[in-house]
Amino acid sequence: MPQEATRPAADGAPTRAVVLGGSIAGLFAARVLAEAYDEVLVVDRDAVTGVDGPRRGRPQGKHINAMHVRGRVVMEELYPGITDQLIADGTPFGDFSGSVRWYFRGRPVKRADIGYIAVPASAPLMERRIRERTAELANVRFVERCDILGLTATADHAQVTGVKVQKSGEPGETIAADLVVDATGRGSRTPVWLEEMGYPRVEEERTNIGLGYVTQNYKMKADPYNGDLAIIAVASPDVPRGCIFTKTEGDKTLLTVYGILGDHPPTDQEGLYEFVKGLPVPDIHEALKHAEPLDEPVAFRFPTTQRRRYEQMTRFPAGLLVIGDAVSCFNPVYAQGMTVAALSALTLRRHLHSGATPDAAQYFRDLAHDVIDPPWEMTRTVDLGFEGVEGKRDFKVRMGQRYLTMVQVAATRDSSVTRGYMRAAGMIDRPEQLMRPAMVARVLLNALRGPAGPAAVPPAVAEGAGAGDGSEAAKAPVAGSR
Ligand SMILES: Cc1cc2nc3c(=O)[nH]c(=O)nc-3n(C[C@H](O)[C@H](O)[C@H](O)COP(=O)(O)OP(=O)(O)OC[C@H]3O[C@@H](n4cnc5c(N)ncnc54)[C@H](O)[C@@H]3O)c2cc1C
Repeated sequence: MPQEATRPAADGAPTRAVVLGGSIAGLFAARVLAEAYDEVLVVDRDAVTGVDGPRRGRPQGKHINAMHVRGRVVMEELYPGITDQLIADGTPFGDFSGSVRWYFRGRPVKRADIGYIAVPASAPLMERRIRERTAELANVRFVERCDILGLTATADHAQVTGVKVQKSGEPGETIAADLVVDATGRGSRTPVWLEEMGYPRVEEERTNIGLGYVTQNYKMKADPYNGDLAIIAVASPDVPRGCIFTKTEGDKTLLTVYGILGDHPPTDQEGLYEFVKGLPVPDIHEALKHAEPLDEPVAFRFPTTQRRRYEQMTRFPAGLLVIGDAVSCFNPVYAQGMTVAALSALTLRRHLHSGATPDAAQYFRDLAHDVIDPPWEMTRTVDLGFEGVEGKRDFKVRMGQRYLTMVQVAATRDSSVTRGYMRAAGMIDRPEQLMRPAMVARVLLNALRGPAGPAAVPPAVAEGAGAGDGSEAAKAPVAGSR
């Protein structure tokens, strides 16, 4: 821990940036800050260096950790060779689209490679590798097992000057900083600290999705994938439950299943298998017959998405920025958080180039427009497609939902549509690319013919044990062996 520090002198003295939170967004931020500041400190309440498994400050680390293509590409730009490193760690890889069995609305899409690989490393492994590479930077230091208590500022509160911290059993201290970057995640205290300094409360947007995750790791006794990397069924209004069944490092297979609006998977073993049996993805149910559980199923509740509109604030202190989940917390089902964190670091980097303290208003404006708006709008539109999710469904939202449904139907017939859709989903292309005339023509032509083939039947229904159609069965899986 640095001793009681004084703020670095203005002229020619060493400069210091302090990053609050040493998870993914904090690490990416530290990586780019290291290019502009003499010293970068990363403060976290957890022990973070050398940590192998999930940790308390990042409970989502036990669950699926899918990084979109764009996120991996940016991660590779920031840490050249890290993809190979993850592969050398034993992480399987394959085309993000073509090596994955994607199901939308209970139907598989037509296979198509997009030419970008997915590397489904577990959250702890990916975080560890990113952290090791960040720690290799000569001017980055980690301050661990250290609670962040608040900010310090000039008497007029116009400039943040540092951060108040405390290690367990030790007196609190202040770390002086030229720039503080808050990456403490969803529970960030910046809104409260700003209010205490006399600033208005930042506006927050939320959508109540009532999401529940359950995850379990397995050792497979047979390969049910036929060389595929993963089987992913994305929840939709027709089939409001989803799952990700993916190979990961160490010859393990990870299953995450989820349901929205309180329809949560159970955590007891048989209950979990029954939940899977109600999904219209027979391959996963079949695969589980060859799976030996390596741990107990674990749950995670995610009641609401959350976006803090810092870009709308008319006053903001100098010397403070916010990044990652502390700004926007997406529905994790769409796996956007880490990619947004990586892209946000690139935005931060652009604002560091002048050498002066970044202008907060410009940073937040660019962050909102260039990074957060497209995925936020896209997933909000999808979430509002579920009847029970509250929110305004204006014309734009309804048109977006209709078009997306058509894209998903057309993708069951046309691999070019799959390719376009997966490039947008993988955040390689902005969603507007799906609206190019040639793509619209393909989507309409194929969607008008309806989906290719019938929807997959949930195993529970196939056994004659479920009720009615697939969606009903999905809501009420029945008892029986897996
Ligand atoms: C269930 C779930 C599944 C997800 N799955 C995916 C996925 O598949 N793909 C994807 O891209 N994203 C996923 N995400 C989102 C992703 O995990 C985050 O977007 C990403 O990790 C960036 O988070 P962050 O670094 O901003 O914050 P966090 O990961 O929440 O980290 C915050 C850090 O700050 C520290 N901290 C907080 N408060 C204090 C304090 N007062 N003092 C000291 N330290 C503090 C914590 O210890 C922690 O290390 C998922 C999220 C959830 C909840």
